[in-house]
Amino acid sequence: MALTLEQLNSASHADAAQMLDGLYEHSPWIAEQALNERPFKSLAHLNHAMCEVLSHAGRDAQLGLIRAHPELAGKAMVSKTLTAESTNEQTKAGLTDCTPEEFAKIQQLNADYNAKFGWPFILAVRGPRGAGYNKQQIIDAFERRLHGHPEFELQECLRNIHRIVEIRLNDKFGVEPTLGHQVWDWQEKLAEHSDPGFAEKGQLTVTYLTDAHRACAQRISHWMKDCGFDEVEIDAVGNVVGRYHPATAGAKYLLTGSHYDTVRNGGKYDGRLGIFVPMACVQQLHQQGKRLPFGIEAVAFAEEEGQRYKATFLGSGALIGDFKPEWLDQKDADGITMRAAMQHAGLCVDDIPKIQRDPAQYLGFVEVHIEQGPVLNAANIPLGVVTSINASVRYQGHVVGTASHAGTTPMHLRRDAACAVAELALYMEQRAAKDGDSVATIGQLNVPNGSINVVPGQCNFSLDLRAPTDAQRDALERDILAKLQTICERRGVHYQLEETMRAAAAPSAPEWQIRWERAVSALGVPLFKLPSGAGHDAMKLHEVMPQAMLFVRGENAGISHNPLESTTSDDMQLCVDAFTHVLNQLATETA
Ligand SMILES: [Zn+2]
Repeated sequence: MALTLEQLNSASHADAAQMLDGLYEHSPWIAEQALNERPFKSLAHLNHAMCEVLSHAGRDAQLGLIRAHPELAGKAMVSKTLTAESTNEQTKAGLTDCTPEEFAKIQQLNADYNAKFGWPFILAVRGPRGAGYNKQQIIDAFERRLHGHPEFELQECLRNIHRIVEIRLNDKFGVEPTLGHQVWDWQEKLAEHSDPGFAEKGQLTVTYLTDAHRACAQRISHWMKDCGFDEVEIDAVGNVVGRYHPATAGAKYLLTGSHYDTVRNGGKYDGRLGIFVPMACVQQLHQQGKRLPFGIEAVAFAEEEGQRYKATFLGSGALIGDFKPEWLDQKDADGITMRAAMQHAGLCVDDIPKIQRDPAQYLGFVEVHIEQGPVLNAANIPLGVVTSINASVRYQGHVVGTASHAGTTPMHLRRDAACAVAELALYMEQRAAKDGDSVATIGQLNVPNGSINVVPGQCNFSLDLRAPTDAQRDALERDILAKLQTICERRGVHYQLEETMRAAAAPSAPEWQIRWERAVSALGVPLFKLPSGAGHDAMKLHEVMPQAMLFVRGENAGISHNPLESTTSDDMQLCVDAFTHVLNQLATETA
């Protein structure tokens, strides 16, 4: 018999502790302490309470918990002395069925890992969907993490333990994140389409209007129809647009969506999550035969990443009338113009102006997106409410000093161009940190034609500065440019700067941000707010209507634009639930 939250909330402390037995390997104290936080609103709430207990328990207790875990395919498995939970997990991952080579490989990894870190390797082997990693995936993760920093690796083990517990909790309570699985499966299936040159290597790359890109559009449009959208079409720039009609004709629509193109060798969730979450919500409404007092328009944007052509945010740009006709003459690496690519895809270039939306017909725009950063993952929090999409500015810089003999030029007589930029980089690091939520990066720094025995006479560099408001970005920029001037004067070098990009902040509309906050709180998930360091389609819609975004935690320290990008079907389920909650709020408000 599966447990219920009501039973857990109303039981005596001892009985409740008994109910949660076996969650943390040989460590019942975590669940026992977390029970002091009862009543729990949801399993996510209980989960977070247990994360908090462990994060406050101190390093010795954390290490004790890690060391209470068996090795993967280790001695305990062979001698059949694993706990029932571990036996189930290791069997599901196929670890009880290793070839002699696989077994030997894993034993070697176990030994190397233990020698380096002093504790066993912990991996939630049932994986992001709960169905189990395959052995190769396990070995790959093992090899990758063997190179980790010990402090990071300790935290990664704890996060994997929490994930193991999350799945064990689902089993205990008979919970399946069905819609999360659905979203996860759509993403897996869509990732079967990848551009030539990448597909062969098992990498995901979908750039504007390639065969793979058009196949994605077809698949998304079919899935939208299956979900019960009333109208589905591929528009003049390749966006897939699904409309779920309101209860009464003429009512406004909620606009939502994200992009389906990817960077080269990218992840499966970036953009696509924001298409499939609203699709799952519409599927649910359709199955319940439910109409809302407003319609839902979900758009799978054809292009956001600027990979094949220089133009970026082309899909969402077209919706606000910001599609520049000169873009049609841009050429890809093979010399194919955008116009030719669009004609080849059967898109009608002349119709592009017609897809500009009238903001008066919309309530606003919401977008869900994988965080693409490490913040939620580090905080053990599945959802984050976005406060603003950061303002940004970029420069290309050039410092000129004097190239001189590295052996004969005394330190105090040098005019070293690279040291000037290095000094600026260190200043930027602490200046941005002072704000707490600004970021400043010198991503390119090179000495043209440098030699090992020559003091750098020139240095080329880039600046990328971002902050949640324009004013904060401007102050950061002012300080950094002033510092550059001071450094260059003192060092007797001079510099040139060219501004290459400037984008205004897109702060979330307060009333829309609050809707996400209410939704997250209602799920029992702790409210966590953060700015978006990356640009998103919502930035474009921001120019014509109120917008607010919700972030979903990424696994593997939130890595993105990388095949390791990942999130779990449990987190996606929470996201679908939060989106549904926002729909219900809007229904109440507009009824
Ligand atoms: Zn994206």
